[in-house]
Amino acid sequence: MSFQNPVFIPGPTNIPENLRKACDMPTIDHRSPLFGQILHPARAGVQKVLKSTSAEVFIFPSTGTGGWETALTNTLSAGDTVLAARNGMFSQRWIDMCQRHGLNVNVVETPWGQGVPADRYAEILAADTGHQIKAVLATHNETATGVRSNIAAVRQALDDAGHPAMLFVDGVSSIGSMEFRFDDWGVDVAVTGSQKGFMLPAGLGIVGFSAKAMEATKSAKLPRTFFDVHDMAKGYANSAYPYTPAVGLLNGLNTACGMLLDEGLANVFARHHRIAEGVRAAVGAWGLDLCAASPDLYSDTVSAIRTPEGFNATSIVTHAAEVYGVAFGVGLGEVAGKVFRIGHLGSLTDVMMLSGIATAEMCMADLGLDITLGSGVAAAQDYYRANRAERQQDA
Ligand code: PLP
Repeated sequence: MSFQNPVFIPGPTNIPENLRKACDMPTIDHRSPLFGQILHPARAGVQKVLKSTSAEVFIFPSTGTGGWETALTNTLSAGDTVLAARNGMFSQRWIDMCQRHGLNVNVVETPWGQGVPADRYAEILAADTGHQIKAVLATHNETATGVRSNIAAVRQALDDAGHPAMLFVDGVSSIGSMEFRFDDWGVDVAVTGSQKGFMLPAGLGIVGFSAKAMEATKSAKLPRTFFDVHDMAKGYANSAYPYTPAVGLLNGLNTACGMLLDEGLANVFARHHRIAEGVRAAVGAWGLDLCAASPDLYSDTVSAIRTPEGFNATSIVTHAAEVYGVAFGVGLGEVAGKVFRIGHLGSLTDVMMLSGIATAEMCMADLGLDITLGSGVAAAQDYYRANRAERQQDA
């Protein structure tokens, strides 16, 4: 018999049994009315998870990266200027995609471990009196560094400058796990995928477009075919796709939205926060530091943990996989070898997390780090006992 441990990577996340079953369905005719009974509720569910009453939701057989491409190619033209901060591997990759599409990227170099610098954005936007900047990019949760950025502050920067640029937010590792307010934050395009907060296998690129972003599609000239939202919208009007949809994943997405909304988004976010605080208590007990520079930046979905100078953090991840059959995340890019990451999002409980913390402890002790077995587990247990789940009202 083979046993399966939960994974503690920051996506793909653990798949609950009911979602696995929802994805595993017999073939249906994707041009029959039955498909509409899956597609429309899934889109409506995503809209609610985004906390929007009006976002146009498009779902592609793709991943978050395809969501980025959908955002850019449907709203911009070659030579357009966009503003972006480089503060981790994923913001770096989105910038690279912009450049490969012939966009002019005003890159704000930001130390890894810091969030999107809304104050610097404010200065740049205020100085752009000719409104050359067409879109402002923000990675809500930098999965490489475990840093959450303040999207409301980025919106404020745009509003204070009276700047008409669109706001594009990468919510790949936040949506469905951490507070995300599409309408309140004035987001124009939100991007995510199926394999993180939605607890599904990878395979869907999910985007929400505001009315302003939809308007921009009319003049945007970047080439697009597979990710053309107009083709998609035309299909949706007939409960269909312009090509073959990933029906099982869409059925899973519909069920996943139902799960998140049944739990209540406020409870989902509180659960993620509680689990993350337990991990952070453990990190403190180990005498280690997070990559995130200050508590206001701490991510509730992933912790990137710095290991002592001269120690290869990746060895923890390799050892955990080989010896204990447990998956943690390696450091990426600038912080490769300097951090290891504990993913704590999706289908997870306090008790599951304790097993991950215990495993990290065993690995660090095995590899010679000065870690007292049980120290992190005890700190997390104390936190979880003192902060039991209380039902929250949705706000
Ligand atoms: N953006 C962020 C913040 C991510 O964490 C990821 C993947 O981990 C991506 C974008 C890319 O998404 P995908 O791997 O689904 O294409």
